[in-house]
This record gives sequence, C-alpha cells and structure tokens, in this order.
Amino acid sequence: MGGVRFASRNWRQEWVKLNSNRVPLSGGEWAIVARAILPQTSPLPIPPFPTPHSPYLGKMRKPLFANTLRYTRNMGGSLINLAYLVSAVLFILGLKGLSHPRTAVRGNQLGALGMLIAIVATLLNQEIISFTLVLVGLVVGAFIGLVMALRVQMTAMPQMVALLNGFGGIASALVAGASLIETTLPEVTPPVPLLQLTGATALSGIIGAVTFWGSLVAFGKLQGIINENPLQVSFLHYINGVLLLVAVVLGVLLMLNPTAVGYYWALLAVASVVGLLLVFPIGGADMPVVIALLNSYSGLAAAATGFVLNNNALIITGSLVGASGIILTTIMCKAMNRSLRNVLFGVWVPGEAGPKADDVYAGKVKATSPEEVAMLLEGARLVVIVPGYGMAVSQAQHAVRDLMQILQSQGVEVEFAIHPVAGRMPGHMNVLLAEADVPYDKLKEMDEINPRFEQVDVAIVIGANDVVNPLARIDPNSPIAGMPILDVDKARSVVVIKRSLSPGFAGIPNPLFALDNTLMLFADAREGVQGIINALKAK
Ligand code: NAP
Repeated sequence: MGGVRFASRNWRQEWVKLNSNRVPLSGGEWAIVARAILPQTSPLPIPPFPTPHSPYLGKMRKPLFANTLRYTRNMGGSLINLAYLVSAVLFILGLKGLSHPRTAVRGNQLGALGMLIAIVATLLNQEIISFTLVLVGLVVGAFIGLVMALRVQMTAMPQMVALLNGFGGIASALVAGASLIETTLPEVTPPVPLLQLTGATALSGIIGAVTFWGSLVAFGKLQGIINENPLQVSFLHYINGVLLLVAVVLGVLLMLNPTAVGYYWALLAVASVVGLLLVFPIGGADMPVVIALLNSYSGLAAAATGFVLNNNALIITGSLVGASGIILTTIMCKAMNRSLRNVLFGVWVPGEAGPKADDVYAGKVKATSPEEVAMLLEGARLVVIVPGYGMAVSQAQHAVRDLMQILQSQGVEVEFAIHPVAGRMPGHMNVLLAEADVPYDKLKEMDEINPRFEQVDVAIVIGANDVVNPLARIDPNSPIAGMPILDVDKARSVVVIKRSLSPGFAGIPNPLFALDNTLMLFADAREGVQGIINALKAK
C-alpha cells in the first residue's frame, strides 16, 4: 500500500512539472481537463480519481465536475470498503474455523479468500497508476514465501513464525514512515487529519521496530544462531523503560512538528534497541510465548498503519491479529502456570524448589524392555498415548502412528492425550501427529481425557515429562504447582519412553517415574516405539 501511495505521488509530481508553465491547476485537475479533451492522445497515464483541492476548481467548474467527482470517488471508496468488510467477515469465520482441527482447513481457506478479496480491492484503488512496484513485490514475496514454506521443517515452525511477525512489524513501520514523508511534500494532502497521521505513524514505528528486532532475536535463539541463555544485565528493565519513554517523547515531538521526519528515524532507532533488550534477557525455552506476544504486536503495528493510511482492512485485520495473539499468549501462560510478567521480566530458574531427584527415584524406578511392553499391550483394551517434547526431538511421530495402527489391528482402542503446552510451541503435538496422518478424532484434549484415565489399561508416555508430573497437583512449593497436567498416574499401567531420568523443561524430578504402576523404557523415543512394534509383530 505504501508503494501505491508513492506511485501516485511520482505521477502527480511529473504531471505538475509538465504542466507548470500553463494554467496553475493541481495534478488531479489537469487530469480532469486532459480526460475531457485528450482522451486518447495523452502520452502520460491519466489518473481517474483526481483530488479537487485547488480553489481554482471551485471557481471554474464546480457545478460541472465537483459532484461527479465526489460521486465517483464515494462510489469507488464505498465498494472498496464493502470488499474490506467482506474480507473482515471471512477472516473472523476463518479464525473460528481454525479453532478446531476438523474445521481448520476450511478456516484456512476462508482466511485466504478474505485476503484475496482484500488484495484485489486494494488493487482496484484507482490511485494506483503503476502496477510495476506492486507486481515486483508480489512476485518476489510469493517466491520467497513458496521456497520457505516448502523447505521449512515442522520443528522449525516457531522460528518461521518469528520471522514472519518481524517482517510484518517492520513493513508496517516503513509504510507509515513513507506516508509521513509523502505528506511533507507541498502538493500532497494527507488522507487523514495530520494529528492522527503523525500519532499513528509514531505508534506504528515504535511497535513495528520493537516487533522486528525482538522477533529477529527470538529467531536467532531458536535457530541456535544466538546463545539461548537469558542475558542477565542489572537494571536492564529500567533501561528499557527509559528508552521506551524517550521513544514516546520523540513521537510527541513528531506530532507537534509533522515535517520534522528526523524525529521518526530517531524514534525507530530507540525502539529498535528496546526490541533487542526486551528479548535478549528471555531464555530460549520461553521463546514460543514471546513469539505469540510479538505476533500480537505485529497486528497492532498494522492496525496503527491502517489509521495512517485510512485503510479499514488494515485496521480490522491488525486488530484481529493483535487480539488473537494476546489470547494465545494468555492461554500459553496459563497452561504453564506462569504470568506474562514472569515470562517477560522474571528469569526462569528451573528446579529451584521441590524434592531432590535421589529422594524421588532411589530404589523405586523399574526399567522395562520392548518385549515386556508388548506383552502388557496384548492384554489391553484401551491404550492412551501421551506425546511430549521428546517425540518431537526424535521425530517419532511416524513410528507412533504405526504403533497405533498395529494395536488397532489387534482390536485395541487407541487415543492420544494432548496437553496444550506439550513440546515447545502451541499445537506442537497436533502438528506432528497430523503430519503422520493420525486422525484428528483420536486426539483428546486434557479436559476430555483426564476424567477417563482410570479406565485406561496402558498409558504410553513418549518423551513427555512436565505435562504428566503429579507434583503440579500435590506439591504447592513446586515450580509447576497449579499447572494443569494430564492425570496419567491414574491409569492402570504406565509406560514411559525416554532416554534417562533427566528432568524436562521445568528441571524438576517426576514422581510418576517411581510409581508402582509405572515402567520405564529407557530409549530414544523413535527407537523405543519401533522396538515395541517389532516385539508386537514378532508374537
Ligand atoms: P519436557 O517436560 O520438556 O520433557 C521432555 C522430555 O523429553 C525430557 O525429560 C527428555 O528426557 C525427553 N527427551 C528428549 N529427547 C528425547 C528423545 N530423543 N527421545 C525420548 N525422550 C526424549 O516436555 P513436555 O512434557 O512436552 O513439557 C513441555 C514443557 O515445555 C512444559 O514445561 C511447558 O511449560 C514448556 N514450554 C512449552 C511451550 C509450548 O508452547 N508448548 C513453550 C514454552 C515452554 P531424556 O533426556 O531423559 O530423554
């Protein structure tokens, strides 16, 4: 959209330059005259939507042109806004569809249709007189998007989302900046009141720059380019607060002096430092929460830019992204039993409180073998598989699907218990199991499966730890106290497949591994599952 506005400005400048030695009309008015008298012969493209700002127009031809112009502009604008409204409705329906695996594909399609309508409506905006920039952007963007979508691993999705958020944020900030620069030109009338334009531009600049740099750090930490440990610097949060205040003051100065674009660049620079300092002190494991939050920020930056451009589609979609991002952030924090403040400003020190591993495990852990597990499964009627981070690490999802199929072929009912923060990103387990074609209706959420664990013959925990740790229920001093968990310990038998007794993300021992009804299969998740399959086949 920034390209659209620039394109129209260049044209207008050219046109004014060409005609400046004739009658002193604005570029738009010249276009009306040229349209009337030179419809076929004009060497330059003629803008169909001129802006009647000049007093000359009023004096010369008001009755002839002004009404027609207003009517045509209003009609075009109304149609575009109507299309934007349709897109917004489709986005909302799309979001609703995405809330359930069964309707997710349809939801995605509805969202994509909404985006197509919004793009086409924007391209119909008759202020566009050169499509070259728009086309180049489309082709380059589509190519990069396609290559990335084809090449990215499922486990690298959080990084990919971080990058997308970051680019969304910086695009909003740059488009708002471009609009600001454009309005400093004498022949350009801002699309919205100047105070709104500068205020929204400042907001977009601050949020966009924070999002961009914050997302790059999140990407770097998850990709292993940057050390994922939290950077601990004294008074960092106070420094951040002061810098944010400086950025806001620069924004206010910009609102008071709209032509002083330098304030905007200074604001971008300060906000960029805030973005870096905000995410560096957060550990790599908390990055998914940070990414969900930055996703929300990127939406807010887009909404602010919508106020700069007076573009309803941007305002609505930006608000939707902003709201859904913050809802996701809250859900993740709740499922981890942590506050957002703790994630952002508290350094997560795993395993500080609670019992020591030796006290929990000494002499109580029973190791097992794939053959023994196969025997246990033979007598089972209902088996529930509980996947966790270890399944993602070992990419065991295909082997897990094979195990499900072989058990089903032997008349065993198999279901999957999915914890909302199992793994390292929202929906991590759902994505992996979907990739392996495990049917959606086999995936049971915590609230649905927990009341049924007492009827489960065998629960197979594959690379999960914190999400099945009963300490969350019974030890108020535990770092995970109060975190909702899957009540695996209530099943008749539990088999845990992991490589050792090492703790999970929270860094605390897990009494589940020492229960009477638990057997530990010490193995890599994929090898362990494959071993059970082989043993089942050998019978
Ligand atoms: P977890 O508590 O982190 O435990 C994962 C377990 O997987 C480890 O104990 C590890 O034990 C095992 N493992 C690692 N590699 C393995 C392999 N190749 N084969 C078999 N096992 C392997 O995982 P979780 O139960 O899924 O819980 C997720 C945790 O992450 C929660 O504490 C949650 O709050 C946190 N978190 C989640 C998100 C999210 O969005 N999902 C975001 C941030 C934080 P061994 O080393 O002994 O094998």
